[in-house]
Amino acid sequence: MPRLIDHLAQSRLKSALLRISPYRRAISSAYECERALMFAPLEEVRREQQRRLRELLALALRAPYWREVLQSRRIQPETFTLDRLGELPFLTKDILRRHEQDLRIPGASGVYENFSGGSTGIPIRFYQDDRYKVHMSVSTRLCNEMAGAFPGARLAKLWGAPQDKRQIESPLGKLKLWLLNHRYLDTFDMGPQRMDAYHAEMEEFQPDLIQAYASSIHLLARHLKRRRIRPSYPRLGIISSAERLTEAMRREIEEVFPVQVFNRYGSREVSAMAAECEHHNGLHITSAGHIVETVDPVTLEPVRGRPGEIVITVLHNHAMPFLRYRIGDVGRLEDAPCPCGRTTPRLVELLGRTSDNFLMPDGRIVHGEYFTHMFYGRPEVKQFQFVQDAVDEFVLRLVPGRGYSGDLGRRFEEELRVLIGSQARLRLEIREEIPKTASGKYRFTISKVKVDELAGVP
Ligand SMILES: [Zn+2]
Repeated sequence: MPRLIDHLAQSRLKSALLRISPYRRAISSAYECERALMFAPLEEVRREQQRRLRELLALALRAPYWREVLQSRRIQPETFTLDRLGELPFLTKDILRRHEQDLRIPGASGVYENFSGGSTGIPIRFYQDDRYKVHMSVSTRLCNEMAGAFPGARLAKLWGAPQDKRQIESPLGKLKLWLLNHRYLDTFDMGPQRMDAYHAEMEEFQPDLIQAYASSIHLLARHLKRRRIRPSYPRLGIISSAERLTEAMRREIEEVFPVQVFNRYGSREVSAMAAECEHHNGLHITSAGHIVETVDPVTLEPVRGRPGEIVITVLHNHAMPFLRYRIGDVGRLEDAPCPCGRTTPRLVELLGRTSDNFLMPDGRIVHGEYFTHMFYGRPEVKQFQFVQDAVDEFVLRLVPGRGYSGDLGRRFEEELRVLIGSQARLRLEIREEIPKTASGKYRFTISKVKVDELAGVP
């Protein structure tokens, strides 16, 4: 009982403190509108999308790259219609790299830079603004809600982005986590003892939800299964995100934990933008802020009813428009109604990025995303691939870009040495290209060590 009273008092204090922030207030009002649109008739959603697209195109005229695109195609933003979207060219990672500055809209407010390794191992840098940030939070909230979340819900995040980590570990970051009722567990260090500690922490914290990289929660599930531990948490659901969740992974996670897994899709360029509702029949696109198309990967013609390459238009980034962005993932759009009442199309048969876990010679288990982050903000690297052939044998493949030098290669080697130790073998290979795998996908963090099987070793 005292704990309950504590919690109630805390919640009231926390929500009062949260309301002070103008950012939180902006999220609250945008949330009401976006949530309503998820249940609205499709014509209404399309009208709203067209209005937002026109607004974005008008701003895009200020960016040299987009001005050229729009003028050469005689596109007038104020009369442009959604069904003419195909007149706009695709935005590729290569274009983002080559025209980074010309793609930016001058004068956007609250602009910050962001990075991604995407699904292809091609590092990109891009810019987002305050407006994007608000919509990113709204979209995330709509995704969490589909897994049962509510304001103030206890959320344990099994996550590991270094740039997020710096924020999280700052005093302000810690205060924010406390206010939001969130805990953060670092997936860049997932050795067996660490996983035991995470389990103990979650038994104590009793999260309503866990949000995790698909492979990290899968790794934890297998670890607990080997230890014959049945966790009493979480209370509502497990949100799996950032990478591909296979049906086998889902089954194993649900065997161990007392709740269902809710798959989610998104990336740093487009934010969390699609998630499963309680019916688990595909991922609802969360808001009117994203227009999703699927195209044939070879002809680039639109496809419906079968899987295609996913193309996303983000309507609320006014710092750098992402118009018809080829994100590099594959999926099928499903329009049939869902019993939950949400009207937005769903993404099914989703083949997103896959990332392996790596076993370090000192016993640490590191999520593959760690290596992706090494190349953030590195325009000198066109593409990378990091492969572990044995516990003490690694290969780093790089496709050099403009400005690459041997010194930079040596710096990457030094950075990797911190993790893999001085005894492991590390080969740096400079390549002209990195071929796709048989499935047509790039895999850029590959471990041939069966990390999952070793996870139970005490
Ligand atoms: Zn649904």
